Amino acid sequence: MRFSRLWWVWLAVGSAATAGYFLLPRGSLTSSLAYNVIGLASGLLILTGVRLHRPEMPGLWYWFAAGQIVWVIGDVVWEYYAYVRHVEPYPSAADVFYLGAYPLLILGLLPLVRGGRGRDLAGLIDAAVVGTGLGLVLWIFVLEPIASDDSVGWTERLISTAYPAADVLLLALLARLYTSSRRTTSSVRLLALATLLLLVADIGYSVVTLYSDGQARSLDALWLMSYVTWAAAALHPSMRISGTDATGTRPAGIGRGRLLLLAACSLIAPAMLFLPGVGDDDADRAAVALGAMVLFLLVVLRMSGFVQQVQRQAGQLEDLAMHDDLTGLANRRRFEQKLRQALGSGPVLVTLLDLDGFKKVNDDLGHALGDRLIVELAGRLRATVCARSTVARMGGDEFAVLVPGAGPAEADHLVDQLAGVLREPVRVGGHQLLVTASFGVTDGTGTDDPFEVLRRADVAMYAAKENGEQRRRYTTELDERASAQASLGAELRTALDTGQFRLVYQPIVALPEGRVVAVEALVRWAHPERGLVNPADFIAVAEQNGLIVELGRWILRTACEQAARWRADHGAAAPEKISVNVSARQLARPGFAEEVADALADSGLPASGLAVEVTETAVFEGGQALETLHELRRLGVRIALDDFGTGHSSLGLLQTVPVDILKVDKSFVDNITMAGRHAVIATALIQVSDGLGLTAVAEGVETREQADELYRLGYRLVQGFHFGRPTAEPDFTRTGQLTA
Ligand code: C2E
Ligand code: MG
Ligand code: MG
Repeated sequence: MRFSRLWWVWLAVGSAATAGYFLLPRGSLTSSLAYNVIGLASGLLILTGVRLHRPEMPGLWYWFAAGQIVWVIGDVVWEYYAYVRHVEPYPSAADVFYLGAYPLLILGLLPLVRGGRGRDLAGLIDAAVVGTGLGLVLWIFVLEPIASDDSVGWTERLISTAYPAADVLLLALLARLYTSSRRTTSSVRLLALATLLLLVADIGYSVVTLYSDGQARSLDALWLMSYVTWAAAALHPSMRISGTDATGTRPAGIGRGRLLLLAACSLIAPAMLFLPGVGDDDADRAAVALGAMVLFLLVVLRMSGFVQQVQRQAGQLEDLAMHDDLTGLANRRRFEQKLRQALGSGPVLVTLLDLDGFKKVNDDLGHALGDRLIVELAGRLRATVCARSTVARMGGDEFAVLVPGAGPAEADHLVDQLAGVLREPVRVGGHQLLVTASFGVTDGTGTDDPFEVLRRADVAMYAAKENGEQRRRYTTELDERASAQASLGAELRTALDTGQFRLVYQPIVALPEGRVVAVEALVRWAHPERGLVNPADFIAVAEQNGLIVELGRWILRTACEQAARWRADHGAAAPEKISVNVSARQLARPGFAEEVADALADSGLPASGLAVEVTETAVFEGGQALETLHELRRLGVRIALDDFGTGHSSLGLLQTVPVDILKVDKSFVDNITMAGRHAVIATALIQVSDGLGLTAVAEGVETREQADELYRLGYRLVQGFHFGRPTAEPDFTRTGQLTA
């Protein structure tokens, strides 16, 4: 911006000119000419500023320019009296112009002051405090002495008080600009300086003309600098934005500077009573008392405004704290609050619902779409329940619904309704998503504690999820089972620490000759009282409390060591591979592949001698589990899909998951000798496996007939009690029996 520096160029030129003015002989024509030129130049530069910067509100600058020029006219008139007619009348026609300029300046300032959006009561009060304080000082020290001076005529007194009074009015308007919630611009600050210079000069003039005969020429410096500064304000680029700085508003509170100013201004009245001479006459005392009262009332007003503001903000905060940001539904805290109220006044029905497979949506489609899904479902849930019900988002993909006054009989209806609206396909980002959820239902029987009610709903919901059911109602048995699991969990910890776990190995044999080509390692718990406990009774609990990670590490290491030892002891007769079951929780840990590599390295077993068995469900959701499988594959470890055919999306999974071995579940083997669905599936599975170049292992083969039939269908690897039960030291030399 070419003209952005102009304002201080003018400030420098104007100051120099003012200094130059004092070099000229006093009362000479050149000196008055210089005075008038500076004044006129200032007025014209204001107009120039408008042309250059094109302000939002040009009108006010025209008023300012008019005010300046009227002043210059006043100066000319005064000089006419002084230098042409050689009189110095006071008051004179010049005062008409001088005073007449004030309304113009005030008219200019008014739109600036009112320019802000909205009402700013606090700013107004602050301005009033400053105005009253300063006004009081002015009154006591300047106006009142002048006004009560009987030695001069009343017109003189009136005019002498009018100048400072008008200046104070100007200052009060500027104070209002300063105290508004908007930021003041440099231009406004220059305006304030100009007015301040004017005020000091006017007060000085009133005092000098009243109390001394002489003329203080030094006052001219103040007036001239006021002219110059006023024009500088118009030349400053920030004049464009009429007093408001568009870049931001000030915080509504009180800054430290303003607090000091306000405190000082409101203390002025009482402080003045300490000054000698003040309060000697009744008028002074009345003025001070009145000022103090007004200031006190203003402060009270300001404080009450504050209190209101704080209360309003507290309300807003509470609102924020009670609602979920994403969906606008009630949040957990609000829900607990509502539940507490409802429990106090009758029966309640609470259902907690958790979306199935939401994590997969988030992982596959991204969080943005996940969020949109949540928002859409939240809207549906809210639209479904009646007005007295509360729907809350408890976090993540978990929602809760509270129906006050509803009994257990209505539970099924409620869940039907909610599940119904969720079932409608959701269209987000070009995807059609089908959503299901698990519901846990409870009522407030026997408790008035909202946390207990929520806990019950939670227990029921988890039971539903665990069992793959849509809904579960809370019963005390759920708690008993949970507590039994908790104590089992603690026992497992001790079992691991005191070495109560064993591994047994079940042979996997090749048909038709029945050679043991591999073994599957299966864990057993040698319980001090209960004897050998099967994994079905504790693996799930170990998964839940996370102990499976440590237990799994032990199993892996033990199995690898055993396999390596067999190789050393039996040579070629040892099984080529050992198969180890790995649970979902182990796979989901980023460091798992490394653990496997370490176990192999430490035992000396080659990677090709190890297979890990994972279930379809463990890798169904993709993510880290899938990543781990790829890493294992890179190590050279084989991957087997266990219990194949019973899990999620069997065939689709084979496209994404790196698989070498399919372990066809026992349920398909059981009835294979009878024509029927199972036989058909077993046939299909061997074809798929051959087609994809995978190795199929048939599990749970208990009879020779089953083995014969499997062989006929094309199965070459089998595992089952018919070929050997899991034992600590299987016999590798024994060959299987096959009729064919
Ligand atoms: P799985 O991996 O499918 O293991 C095969 C299960 O079927 C074993 O039961 C085995 O004893 C049993 N089985 C084998 N042949 C027959 C048969 O002919 N008839 C019958 N009725 N059953 C047969 P187990 O050892 O009780 O293991 C059950 C499940 O526990 C395993 O199923 C596996 O999912 C899990 N599991 C076992 N050991 C471990 C382990 O070390 N780690 C992990 N994470 N899970 C394990
Ligand atoms: Mg297995
Ligand atoms: Mg299996």
